[in-house]
Amino acid sequence: MSSPQEQATLAGNATKARDLQIYVGGKWVPSTATTWFDVHNPATDALIARTPLGGKEDVDRAVKAAAAAYPAWRATPPVNRVKYLFAMKNIFEKNFEELARICTTEHGKTLDESRSSVRRAIDNIDMAIAIPTTMQGRSLEDIATGIDCYTYRQPMGVFAAITPFNFPAMVPMWFLPHAIACGNTFVLKPSERVPLSQQKIFEMLHDCGLPEGVVNLVHGGKDAVDAILDHPVIQGVSFVGSSPIAHYIYKRGAEAGKRVQALGGAKNFTLIMPDADMDRAANVSTESCFGCAGERCLANSVVLGVGTAYDIMVEKLVAEAKKIKVGDGLEPGVTMGPVISKQHREKVLSYIEKGIAEGATLALDGRAYKDPKNPNGYYLGPTVFTNVKPEMVIAREEIFGPVICIMKADTFEEAVKIVKQHELGNASSIFTSSGKAAREYRYQVEPAMMGINIGVAAPMAFFPFGGSKGSFFGDLKAHGTDAVEFYTDKKVNIVRWF
Ligand code: NAD
Repeated sequence: MSSPQEQATLAGNATKARDLQIYVGGKWVPSTATTWFDVHNPATDALIARTPLGGKEDVDRAVKAAAAAYPAWRATPPVNRVKYLFAMKNIFEKNFEELARICTTEHGKTLDESRSSVRRAIDNIDMAIAIPTTMQGRSLEDIATGIDCYTYRQPMGVFAAITPFNFPAMVPMWFLPHAIACGNTFVLKPSERVPLSQQKIFEMLHDCGLPEGVVNLVHGGKDAVDAILDHPVIQGVSFVGSSPIAHYIYKRGAEAGKRVQALGGAKNFTLIMPDADMDRAANVSTESCFGCAGERCLANSVVLGVGTAYDIMVEKLVAEAKKIKVGDGLEPGVTMGPVISKQHREKVLSYIEKGIAEGATLALDGRAYKDPKNPNGYYLGPTVFTNVKPEMVIAREEIFGPVICIMKADTFEEAVKIVKQHELGNASSIFTSSGKAAREYRYQVEPAMMGINIGVAAPMAFFPFGGSKGSFFGDLKAHGTDAVEFYTDKKVNIVRWF
C-alpha cells in the first residue's frame, strides 16, 4: 500500500493533463505527431493526458533503435538477460500499488481489479525468467550411425505488439517480457485511450538499466499500426483487440511476411445445467459478466439456462446484479466502475435499445444510473435481459459493457448447437454436477478457454492464452510456452565428425 501522502500526490498528478512522449533508444523524446487524443478519467471525465497520434516516422525511429540494439542483446547470454527481468519483477513489486491506481484512473475498473491485472503482468515476467530452461532446443544422438542432430532456438530480431484499452497494464506484458527474454528487441504501441500505465511501466523499465533500444514505446492509432504492419524490419506482430481489426492485422501482417498472432473479440456463453449448484453459478456468472464493467474478453455475457435452470437463473442473476455497487473504482466498497468513454457508454446504451426493440425483456435496467459524487462519469448500472433469442443482435454482437443476456435452451443438445453456431469462440463455461455433461461440453464446443463450474478467470502466464473461430487469427497463442515458439526460430543442425 502506498502512504496517504503518496496517494494524494498520485491523485493530484492524475488530474493534471500532460502531453506524452515516446520512448525510443532509451530516451523520452517528443513524438512527431500533429494530432492528439484526449485521455479522460472515466470516473470523473477529467482530462488526464494527451496521447500523440504518431505514424510512420515515430515507428521508424523506434524500429531503427530496436534493430540497432538487437545484435548485442541477442549475444547477451540468456542467464544475463534474465538479470534484467529480475530487476523488472522487483520494480513492478515496488510500484505495484501506484501502477494499480494509474490503471484505475485511466481505465475506470476498480482498484482490486487493477491489482489483479498488475499481478498477472508480474506473473508474465516470472514466466519469462524461466527462459534459460524454456528456450532450450532438443537433440538426438545417432540419427544415423555417428551422426547427431540438434535444434537451437534463436531470436529473430525486432517484434512489435499492438494492444487494446481494457487491460492497460497487463496485456502488453503478455508479450514484452517473453520477446526480450528470448533475445529479441521490442516496440510497443498501446491503446491511445490508456497510455498512462505504459508510461509508468516504461519509466520503470528505464530504471532497470535495460540496454538502450531493447524496449521502445510509440503512440498512435491506425497510422502507427499500419506503419508497424508494413515495416520491413519487424519480424512479427502480436495484436489484441476487436475481431475486425484482428482479422485486418492478420491479413496485412502476413502479407508483409511477418509472424502474426491476433487475438480478437468475444461473445462468451455460460451453460447452466439443471443439476448445477445454482447459487454458485449465479454468483460466478455475475462476477464474470459485470467484472471490469463487462469490458473483458473473458466476460461470460450470455447465460444459457437449460430447462428448469432458466427460471432459477433469471431470479438469482437479477438478485445478484442488484448487489453491485457502481462508482469511482478508487472508492472503497465500489464493485463496478464506469465504462471507458462517453462514446462507449452511448454504444452500450444503443445495444440496450436494440434489445428492447427486438423483444427481449429488460429485467434490470441500468441506463439511468448516475453517481451522485461524480455526475460527469461514464457510468451504467448492471443491466439484465431475459427472453433473449440466439438471432437477436444483443446475443450475437459483443456489447463490451455491463449487460447480461439470459437465454433458454430446452435441452443440452440445443444449448450446444447455439454455442457452436456463434461465429466467435473465445471462452465458455458450464455449470453442472455431471462430469459426463462437462466432458461432453468441453469436447463439443470450440471456445479455446473453458471453465467448468467456474468463470474463465484472468489467464495464467504459464498456459497459452487465446480463443478460436473469429476470436483468434494465427496459430501460436499468447504467453506460456507458445510465446517461446512465437519469439524464436528453430535451427536444425545435423553433425558428423570424421
Ligand atoms: P480495438 O480493436 O478498437 O483497438 C485495439 C488496438 O488496435 C488499439 O491499439 C488501437 O489503436 C488499434 N486500432 C483501432 N482501430 C484500428 C484500425 N482501424 N486500424 C488499425 N489499428 C486500429 O479494441 P479495443 O476497443 O481497444 O479493445 C476491446 C476489444 O479487444 C474487444 O473486442 C475485446 O474482446 C478485445 N480483447 C480481446 C482479448 C483477447 O484475448 N482475445 C483481450 C482483451 C481485449
